[in-house]
Amino acid sequence: MSLIELISAGYIYPEASMAALSDISLEIREGEYVAIVGNNGSGKSTLVRLFNGLRLPSSGTVRVDGMDPGLRVNLFHARQRVALVFQSPVDQIVSTCVEEDVAFGPSNLGLPREEIERRVDRALATVGLGAERSRPTRSLSGGQQQKLAIAGSLAMEPECIVFDEATSMLDPGSKDVLLGLMDALSADGMAIVHVTHDMDDAARASRIIALDNGRLVFDGKPGEFFGGSVAASLAGTASPAEAIGLKPPKAVQAARIFGIEARIGEGPRSLAERAAAVLLDGKVQRAESATSAQAKAQAWESVSVSDDPAFSYEDVSFSYLHGTANEVKALSDLSLKLPAGRRVAFVGATGSGKSTALQLLDALLAPSSGRVISLGKDTSDPSLDL
Ligand code: ADP
Ligand code: MG
Repeated sequence: MSLIELISAGYIYPEASMAALSDISLEIREGEYVAIVGNNGSGKSTLVRLFNGLRLPSSGTVRVDGMDPGLRVNLFHARQRVALVFQSPVDQIVSTCVEEDVAFGPSNLGLPREEIERRVDRALATVGLGAERSRPTRSLSGGQQQKLAIAGSLAMEPECIVFDEATSMLDPGSKDVLLGLMDALSADGMAIVHVTHDMDDAARASRIIALDNGRLVFDGKPGEFFGGSVAASLAGTASPAEAIGLKPPKAVQAARIFGIEARIGEGPRSLAERAAAVLLDGKVQRAESATSAQAKAQAWESVSVSDDPAFSYEDVSFSYLHGTANEVKALSDLSLKLPAGRRVAFVGATGSGKSTALQLLDALLAPSSGRVISLGKDTSDPSLDL
């Protein structure tokens, strides 16, 4: 069943001339992880305030848990089902002591004392504030205050928590902790709605809703929103994100630079490995030198892989003082191709064999076994004059 449902909902602030939201239809289902994005003033905060009856639509319909939050009898239920966590943690704290603050909501539900205690314990443990339960709320850091606000929401045992730019005032470390908490709550089956202007954070969600000037302009998967197709980006076709002036996540930007397909949620290591494979194939170089957009696109799509290396090591081993008691093995079974026209870095600890490998390339040294091909010639060939 849908938890939140909007049908052609609109909102106009009193005395405003323009609508803050127009004709919004959407559904948030149980357990979903949704990011809401859009430029400043696009209506994100107004929209999420409709999600639990904090504001009521000027036109259209909103249903929370199937009920109209505009009716007084339902409003309380709506607030309990869908919790909101805002940008500024201080504004959300109501008590002077941590555990009292978390107990505030459940106490208002008129629950028995043991049940309130159970909920407070559980909520504090979930956000990792168990050790701070007796501390004055004023003594908490910004990140801890935001965790406290979340604990307060969790103690209501909602089905959905909406975070409205809740990480934007936090330091990077606290922000990561909070994002991890959102992921964990989502994995536990809670619906998460994350309003954010950080596209890397938005890409963690499984669905993106984008607003522009109070209108819903996109509702779908992050991959579609940020556009992964290299051909499309080269042909100048803007992704839905770019169409409203939002830059894609850093990993998507990096994938485009390397001319490889973007994969939402991919880690840096995997991206780097894919990029390295493409660079070594020489695809990037060819596509970069293409002059027209069409030629570039074709180069990216269809350039065949060059297997014409400038230098190659084939099962190369090398020992200094070969055959003596002081023999030192510097290279063992090295197989490697170095493509033409590329800069390649040889890295490794002192004594790992970098200089030996280079000296084999210009035949200053000859391999003890295996072959070194340098600019098409076998360096062991005695007739060579390198
Ligand atoms: P966002 O969260 O995406 O930045 P908001 O929902 O805060 O956008 O704002 C949407 C529109 O409503 C903007 O034009 C903004 O100026 C206007 N607005 C927001 N809050 C109020 C308010 N309290 N009174 C009048 N206008 C408001
Ligand atoms: Mg806002």
